[in-house]
Amino acid sequence: MSEQHGKPTPSPRIGLFFCECGPNMGNAIRLDDLAAQEAWPEAAVVQRHAFLCAPDGKAKLAEQVRTQGLDRVVIGGCSPHEHEATFRQVLADAGLNPFLLQMTNLREQCEWQGDDDGQATVRARGLVRGALWRAAQQEAVETRTVEASADVVVIGGGMAGLSAALTLAQKNRRVALVERSAALGGLLARLDEVFPSMKCASCFLEPAINQVLDHPQIDVLRESRVVSVKGFHGQFTVEVESAAPAVDPSRCMGAGECAAACPVSFPDPLDEGVGQRKAIGMAYSGSLPHVSHVDPVHCGRCNGAGCDGPCVQACPMNAIDFQRAPVNRTLTCGAVVVATGMETLPVPAVPGVISCVQLERMLHPQGPTSGKVTVPGGGVPRRVVLAPSSEMPARDTDLARRELTKLAVRLLDVCEGVELQLAGDCHQATLAAPMIEQLRAAGVAFSSGALDPATLVPTDNGVSYRRAGKLASTGTADLVVLWTGTRPSSTVGELARDLHVRTTAEGFLEADVDLLVPTGTRVPGIYVVGAALGPRPLGDVVRDGTAAAGRILSTRLPGERLELEPLAARVIPERCGACGVCVTACPYGAIRTLADGKCRVEPAHCRGCGTCAAACPSLAIACPQFEYRQVSAEISGLLAMEGTTRSH
Ligand SMILES: Cc1cc2nc3c(=O)[nH]c(=O)nc-3n(C[C@H](O)[C@H](O)[C@H](O)COP(=O)(O)OP(=O)(O)OC[C@H]3O[C@@H](n4cnc5c(N)ncnc54)[C@H](O)[C@@H]3O)c2cc1C
Repeated sequence: MSEQHGKPTPSPRIGLFFCECGPNMGNAIRLDDLAAQEAWPEAAVVQRHAFLCAPDGKAKLAEQVRTQGLDRVVIGGCSPHEHEATFRQVLADAGLNPFLLQMTNLREQCEWQGDDDGQATVRARGLVRGALWRAAQQEAVETRTVEASADVVVIGGGMAGLSAALTLAQKNRRVALVERSAALGGLLARLDEVFPSMKCASCFLEPAINQVLDHPQIDVLRESRVVSVKGFHGQFTVEVESAAPAVDPSRCMGAGECAAACPVSFPDPLDEGVGQRKAIGMAYSGSLPHVSHVDPVHCGRCNGAGCDGPCVQACPMNAIDFQRAPVNRTLTCGAVVVATGMETLPVPAVPGVISCVQLERMLHPQGPTSGKVTVPGGGVPRRVVLAPSSEMPARDTDLARRELTKLAVRLLDVCEGVELQLAGDCHQATLAAPMIEQLRAAGVAFSSGALDPATLVPTDNGVSYRRAGKLASTGTADLVVLWTGTRPSSTVGELARDLHVRTTAEGFLEADVDLLVPTGTRVPGIYVVGAALGPRPLGDVVRDGTAAAGRILSTRLPGERLELEPLAARVIPERCGACGVCVTACPYGAIRTLADGKCRVEPAHCRGCGTCAAACPSLAIACPQFEYRQVSAEISGLLAMEGTTRSH
């Protein structure tokens, strides 16, 4: 019998196993001394093995557990990071609760510290004694499961969200795709040709959108926003609000009669103001789905400006009705994929200075200028400078170089005899060698340095500019094309707070550092893909979308119950002082404050890291396997002098 706070408890039967880790152990540590049975009165069995993690080692361990009636196992060997899961499985297979295992890392912490005159063996003894004393205090931990959904909500209908949704739906998963705008496609829908293939963007975007729209497993919720996300991995509840559908998509044929009748016209935000649009009409020429939508901010009928709605009479399909109400939905799902993308920063309002998006729209055959590039006042540009802005965030550099190089190639195509200057070290753009070669052959000048937007001044025949950097210079051009920079989607801050997903200093969403779960976040079941993570080319965006979908497909199986973290922390309500320190300390957003002010750990979000317990000033948080008596038993064992016996 041993004593625990004065109360006798039955002595556990502990098996102590030393792993030699092949040739890795036994040089600094004197294994013969360390692994002697008589050295460990706390242990019922002491054994050593050349490779405990090898099949015969595992079989031996299981056999000892069964035949010796062991009810605790201590292993002195490698790091628990490497093989704790392996040995827990051995215990489970041998019929013992897997949490009655204690591993101590003699390899990294003693052996690999070098031969220091017997000190490695002394340290190893301390660690093993600590593990044995702690093992005596360990308790079985049961793993709980809860019902889980295999459905997925994807937020954002750009290329990243489309790829995730399609990959999931192709494997029969139900997907709700929530898109805040009226059309799908995101940034890609604005582009004409895309590097590195120089294929037309719509050639692969349109088939992808059509597949999504036609897929019976995908519900597309356009003009919609996520109001809240509650719950946890396997059991999320997502509230979605969709704008009042003034245009009935099942009736609208996209004929455009409504737009022709609409009296309101304003600069088209999609073109960054190159063209004009009406308050009702298609999102852009050829947009999908091929139906009109109303811009409630500019529509005179919606904003109370007194318009009597000539579009309603003009529509031959009777598809327009302003009396409809917004629609609220509650979706349940097992995982959420955030694909909210990025936005571009505006260019300074200087005539003759345009953004890359504006030039893309001009180059687009279905854009506002039908593919013609012109300078202010009309006419074809003769001298064009393409450059990054000196205020561009460093994270944009490669995408900016690739895009500016691509646009230079396009300008050579459409503006005969144009003189081009490409600043910002675009010759260093990745995967752009063929384009750079083509530009060099055409005599395009490459230079370093970015353009300072404050120095862009309109002149009689164009714009004057100043190139920053070591070889600073000034010049004039009749068109300046500027990559200003990117920023996260404007709605992402609110979404990040709701989802408990971390953001970078610039506000982009942050994926977890775990390389084995690409696009996963610190919150299980929530994935971030595409440009929501920061500026990146399309290839990466598509890879992100499919990676997240692949992960969900392999971890959230229909009908499979969700296994909760067995070591999840628990708040002891009688002790909780409702200070909320744990809520902010938890790196996984797993703790919430209840209506009575007390805190509660959501077991499905908790990863058992123990940060909350360490932060709690009232000692009101219990962590299985890391309870006070368990940790102090280990410390006592570590600190006990040679020959001391257990006092717990
Ligand atoms: C000017 C320019 C040219 C480029 N040219 C190329 C090129 O030639 N080749 C290449 O490989 N890459 C290029 N890129 C990069 C490429 O366009 C992007 O990486 C890609 O389009 C990003 O896709 P995405 O789906 O991650 O984001 P986005 O395309 O930004 O899509 C995000 C979607 O989410 C929606 N959304 C945002 N917030 C919410 C919310 N809260 N709720 C619901 N929906 C929301 C948005 O409306 C949008 O539809 C270019 C980028 C720019 C800026």
